Amino acid sequence: MTTPAPRPPKQEQLPASDQILEIAPGVLRTQLPISIPGLGHVNMYVLEDERGVAVVDPGLPDKNSYAMVKRRLQQVGVPLKNVHTVIVTHSHPDHFGGAYWLRADTGCDIVTHERFRVFWDPSEPDDIDLDDPLAVDGASARTPVRRPWDPTPWGGPSMNVPWRRRARMAVARRIPRMLHLPRPTVRLRDAQTFRFARREWVAVHTPGHTADHLCLFDPEHGLMLCGDHVLPTITPHISGLMRAHDPLKLFFDSLDKVAAFGPQVTKALPAHGDVFTDLGGRALEIKEHHVGRLQKLRDAAIAEGRPMTVMDMSTHLFSPRAQGGMADSETFAHLEHLRLAGEMDRLDRDGRYEYVLRD
Ligand SMILES: [Zn+2]
Repeated sequence: MTTPAPRPPKQEQLPASDQILEIAPGVLRTQLPISIPGLGHVNMYVLEDERGVAVVDPGLPDKNSYAMVKRRLQQVGVPLKNVHTVIVTHSHPDHFGGAYWLRADTGCDIVTHERFRVFWDPSEPDDIDLDDPLAVDGASARTPVRRPWDPTPWGGPSMNVPWRRRARMAVARRIPRMLHLPRPTVRLRDAQTFRFARREWVAVHTPGHTADHLCLFDPEHGLMLCGDHVLPTITPHISGLMRAHDPLKLFFDSLDKVAAFGPQVTKALPAHGDVFTDLGGRALEIKEHHVGRLQKLRDAAIAEGRPMTVMDMSTHLFSPRAQGGMADSETFAHLEHLRLAGEMDRLDRDGRYEYVLRD
């Protein structure tokens, strides 16, 4: 009997490299270590200009990670005080973590998309309005923000959050500073331009992975800072828990949106993994991956011939090792997409959803 050879790690999973790469004039790639399942590092881009530097996605919120941010700046020969801007592509901790500390030390601007919202921070402006595709029925500024351990809408097990973290988050809801959450000083709208690194960048709002995901396009040099929206060899998590009817549709639209930049983009700068060239091709590949998953769900519904829960359906998309809350959440996003496309019906069995193909 032979054991299968272990799968080589994906480039996004490799440990942080000490190497500094020059991607384009004035644009350096450094890497910070992160400890998140499936990810080995986050790319912190450092972009130089006459005022100093802007940094993109400065790692996790802990002190060790921030020490590494400072080490990387030292390595590239930039005094800490020269950081004038932090750009945060979206509201996940491996991207916004160092922003609070950098602002505390340097007074730098924190630039995000206008919707940037760390979900447990009630002081963030509410972004829900009614003709907004990101809004859900009846949501208003007073709709409480869902906490990670709250029951799931589909009636599956809720996330297991240790009580210490719950307690910290409960306190942080009252005093957000306690968790060192960044407060954006510049909130960009879609298509707004913003100047740093000696060129104008165009904000490209790309909801899907999160509602506030921001890519930045540099038309002069053909660069696209693409955060987690388009990664070179893995696909970003699409959560069914987003406050939107159809997060997968939003993600598809955002993939089309960046693909439309097509040949104008010569280098895509992802938040994890290596710089790549064919942004349009990769966006299409990721879309096809999800289209394939939608088909797997239709096939599963036909094969089983009975209404199925999100957890049942999830076993058709994810390996046993990957099962759990995140897998269920992504399956839920796919099932809702099929339901809203008129292909499936959703039955509510005492708070537990079941899905069945529509006749
Ligand atoms: Zn992310």
